[in-house]
Amino acid sequence: MKTVYVDNNATTKVAPEVVGVMLPYFTEFYGNPSSMHFFGGQVQRNVNEAREKAADFLNAEPSEIVFTSCGTESDNAAILGTLDSYPEKRHFITSRVEHPAVGNVSTYLTRKGYRVTELSVNREGQLDLDELKEAITDDTALVSIMHANNETGVIFPIEEVGEIVKARGVPLHTDAVQTAGKIPLNMKKSTIDMLSISGHKLHSPKGIGILYIRKGTKFSPFMMGGHQEKGRRGGTENVPYIIGLGKACELAKAHLQEENTRVKALRDYLEQKILERIPNTLVNGDRVHRLPNTLSVSFEYVEGESILLLLSDLGICASSGSACTSGSLEPSHVLRAMGVPFTAAHGSIRFSLSIYNTKEEMDYIIEHLPPIIQRLRDISPFWKDYLKSQGKA
Ligand code: PLP
Repeated sequence: MKTVYVDNNATTKVAPEVVGVMLPYFTEFYGNPSSMHFFGGQVQRNVNEAREKAADFLNAEPSEIVFTSCGTESDNAAILGTLDSYPEKRHFITSRVEHPAVGNVSTYLTRKGYRVTELSVNREGQLDLDELKEAITDDTALVSIMHANNETGVIFPIEEVGEIVKARGVPLHTDAVQTAGKIPLNMKKSTIDMLSISGHKLHSPKGIGILYIRKGTKFSPFMMGGHQEKGRRGGTENVPYIIGLGKACELAKAHLQEENTRVKALRDYLEQKILERIPNTLVNGDRVHRLPNTLSVSFEYVEGESILLLLSDLGICASSGSACTSGSLEPSHVLRAMGVPFTAAHGSIRFSLSIYNTKEEMDYIIEHLPPIIQRLRDISPFWKDYLKSQGKA
């Protein structure tokens, strides 16, 4: 069966070039970078080259790059490591639409007695910067606001956020897991103090990430152990994955243009055809400030899970915006925070593209999606009620 993979915000294919550079580090160059001998020293140099590539990708200094095990670790380390550095401050600001890698840290902090402010978003999924301004107090230890949303692709104005936060002398962390490789990141021209990246969203393997920490930022290590990563993250370096991520950063820099031209055009084509061919369909989130690869659409009066399963039967891999929590189908916290109506939030699907997608694949989706939605609406009591209300049944 044909596979059409349009779930790249969940994870990406590892680029063959990335696999190629990683392999020798399993069986040939397996030395510990901390070892004194030549064999370890060579590996240390290669790890540093990967660090330089990551720094070049972010326009940062190599010393500002800390390799971690994933995006979740980077987020946890940034938040908990900063709060630990400001023990006298007990207030944390974030948004309502963060990934659980930040959202569940907020819940934990509330349990630990912190005051947590979760900023709201409007119907477009955008922040109200005045709400942020009003939320910051002398007790605020950290602001952590994601760069772009994983479900809708909505991009937050992180540099404007940074200006507001900096004016109050508060550090800023951003979860850039979904933006790295999709829109440019330039830390030399940025107000961001800490930034998280995950390798597997960037065509490198799962289980490797980056935490960028701006020089001079107060930070206590979250992973305590050896002196690796200049004492900011203990644990023997995951050398093959670091080498792979260095290569992935180099490729991501080279592919940024294509992401914003060819991939964006494919996404726009898919969106346009879906809206043309399927009535009662809404696009979720700000369509202007949006990742070039992401499309979140809601098909009213049908279940997202059923759409996904029928797409999956045809080899199409997408994602839904609702999750089965404790037996009840709850729409995602992101769509709920945006106030997407119940009848639409339940039928939301996320298509997320990559440079490996083609126009033929978009046509395949466009051919098969309308009959799937029609089939599900034909058996939906909500759709029948809707038709009645319109005098069409
Ligand atoms: N942050 C965002 C916005 C994400 O989309 C994800 C993964 O889906 C993560 C963090 C977690 O990254 P990882 O899977 O590397 O832990």
